[in-house]
Amino acid sequence: MSITPLMPVYPRCGVRPVRGEHCHLIDEDGTRYLDFASGIAVNLLGHSHEGLIGAIQQQAATLMHVSNLYGSPQGEELARKLVDKTFADTVFFTNSGAEAVETAIKTARAYHQQEDGDAQRTELITFTNAFHGRTMATISASNQEKMHKGFQPLLPGFKYCEFDDLDMAKSLIGPQTAGFLVEPIQGEGGIRPASDAFMHGLRDLCDEHDLMLALDEVQCGVARTGTLYAYEQYGIEPDILATAKGIGGGFPLGACLATEKAARGMVFGTHGSTYGGNPLAMAAGMAVMTAVANDEFLAEVREKGERIRTRLEQFIGNYPDLFELVRGKGLMLGIKMKVESRPFFVHLRDHHQLLTVAAGDNTLRVLPPLVIGDAEIDEFFDKLSAGAASYKVPEAA
Ligand SMILES: *Cc1c(COP(=O)(O)O)cnc(C)c1O
Repeated sequence: MSITPLMPVYPRCGVRPVRGEHCHLIDEDGTRYLDFASGIAVNLLGHSHEGLIGAIQQQAATLMHVSNLYGSPQGEELARKLVDKTFADTVFFTNSGAEAVETAIKTARAYHQQEDGDAQRTELITFTNAFHGRTMATISASNQEKMHKGFQPLLPGFKYCEFDDLDMAKSLIGPQTAGFLVEPIQGEGGIRPASDAFMHGLRDLCDEHDLMLALDEVQCGVARTGTLYAYEQYGIEPDILATAKGIGGGFPLGACLATEKAARGMVFGTHGSTYGGNPLAMAAGMAVMTAVANDEFLAEVREKGERIRTRLEQFIGNYPDLFELVRGKGLMLGIKMKVESRPFFVHLRDHHQLLTVAAGDNTLRVLPPLVIGDAEIDEFFDKLSAGAASYKVPEAA
């Protein structure tokens, strides 16, 4: 038998964390890493946040799980908070990002498949290099062939458009179009923010043709960009929004947010989840929202984001052969490299104990916990500078 007990779908590296302390991870043999990956934009509050731990401990001891067949004071409270703080009128809780996007897709289709709707509108227009998750519907929603290989047939109902190309998006609208599904800032695709004109254009097209604008804010949402959700910075509102990653601060939680109009098809019996929104998850989500969904916290994220960005821009000027530019919003930053970003990300990890995340378009993702302070920012630049100084670009194979 050569297959490993853990199904070998991940190329796991040698870092084997066993403990977290604020913005650091400590691995099996005691090595400390500065964590500017945050479990891929998940650990917003770092690794040992007392409020989050306390909320989970207390809820675990009180009531962990009950069925969604019962009333949920815990779910009502978190849903109310999300409704108060966003465009949404209603919320469905899930356990992951992919499920939140699935719910968004179902919500958009169901909107049109109502009595006074147009049932042929089943198709969502999605965008190149998007990432929406790993379920059948969410891989079908992405044009990335590496995620399709081995899993044919894909689900019908998705049409791919060039990201940030409004003219093309407009030209793809037809009698079968149900709406758009788009990340306002592509994460896996390389921290690529959509332009203001593109987001406004999509909103206008949706209004004009009665289409659903569904945003995938699984990575860019929950205070990451310095507003609770990234759409706020574009000055538009979606009809549907998928959120996850940071919303549980490390506890598996996602949600699909929608307006009352958009959710008109999501009635009794149409959708469900056994675990979705259970009391334990709600306690985690409430602790995260209490910490991040306030002006003071968000202003700090913006300020820290600006500070890191300014320093990064100065820094990359010292290595014009390695780095091209810095992009992103708030504490969702990407350094686009002129060479392959993956070996540099490995170099930072293995030789300088700095954890970042590689992404598409030769970009290095910088996704620190939102609670970083001056000490962690200085440590980040020390490690990054040392890493760039000691880096030798590998010879092309
Ligand atoms: C991570 C991610 C997902 C999938 O989330 P999972 O929790 O892994 O299912 C979907 N969309 C975006 C934009 C993501 O970054």
